[in-house]
Amino acid sequence: MKQKKQHNQCNVHKNIKDIIKIIKIDYAIAFRIKDKMYLNKNLEKYPQLKKALIKHELEHTNGFNLKDILLDLNGTHLSKVKRQYYKFLFKERKAWYQFLPLLKIENKWSFDIIMLIVWILFFLVIILSIII
Ligand SMILES: [Zn+2]
Repeated sequence: MKQKKQHNQCNVHKNIKDIIKIIKIDYAIAFRIKDKMYLNKNLEKYPQLKKALIKHELEHTNGFNLKDILLDLNGTHLSKVKRQYYKFLFKERKAWYQFLPLLKIENKWSFDIIMLIVWILFFLVIILSIII
């Protein structure tokens, strides 16, 4: 899944796979900010899921556009490892941090517009179901 970045740096002349740095974290699942890919350290126990997540994160653009939204809606590589994905969510409580619209990463707040939209829609449905 993709976190919105603060700056849109253009890296079109470089292959993102060559410059990417993988950083292990103990929360969330996986996301990428510019040339840094953050992966939950417990993904080591789920090699197929980890591989699929890396592929997915590499598919994201370096900026934020429609392609990124479609990628997250389709799941792409992740559809093949759904069972491992849900198992991971079930076993790793801190994996749920992935679904927060705002997350502190290396002392910097990172904002995820897709998650914010999901949360707004979620609360709208709840509010509407109460008042109608
Ligand atoms: Zn994604």
